[in-house]
Amino acid sequence: MNLWPEKEGVRFIVSRELGRLVRWLRILGYDTSYFDSIDKRDLLITALREGRLIITRTSAFKDHHGLEMIYIESDKVEEQIKQVMAKLGLIIPQEALFSRCVGCNQILENISKQEVEGKVSPYVFETVEQFKKCPDCKKIYWVGTHWNNVKKFADRLGILSRK
Ligand SMILES: [Zn+2]
Repeated sequence: MNLWPEKEGVRFIVSRELGRLVRWLRILGYDTSYFDSIDKRDLLITALREGRLIITRTSAFKDHHGLEMIYIESDKVEEQIKQVMAKLGLIIPQEALFSRCVGCNQILENISKQEVEGKVSPYVFETVEQFKKCPDCKKIYWVGTHWNNVKKFADRLGILSRK
């Protein structure tokens, strides 16, 4: 059964042993939920109900006839990301990076510099112009060193759009 009619709209559900991959998929902009249970039936039902593609490394989840999933082979997060992107033929638009909260999967909102005064370090406030906020956990994100490192990382993996 094909759960993702549009590649662009692909959504993931990732099982609990792949916590780092969950965070990375969110950083790369993908709607990714974290499945913190070992109940196979529950995983399958949640995936179907929410229209999410299952990503797992748990062999107990692996062989389920009739439902497509990605079974991760490597224990290295770089290889895991590459496998998912290659399997689906995904290329990430630059603007998708850091569009989502790493902690809770919400789409980040743009906020003005004034709004973050006193909430970030004076250095960050002085040097950064563009800020975003998670509407859920209220965490503030900004374009900084980390952002550029992620861009370089994605570029190195060959999964980032050049446009
Ligand atoms: Zn959040």
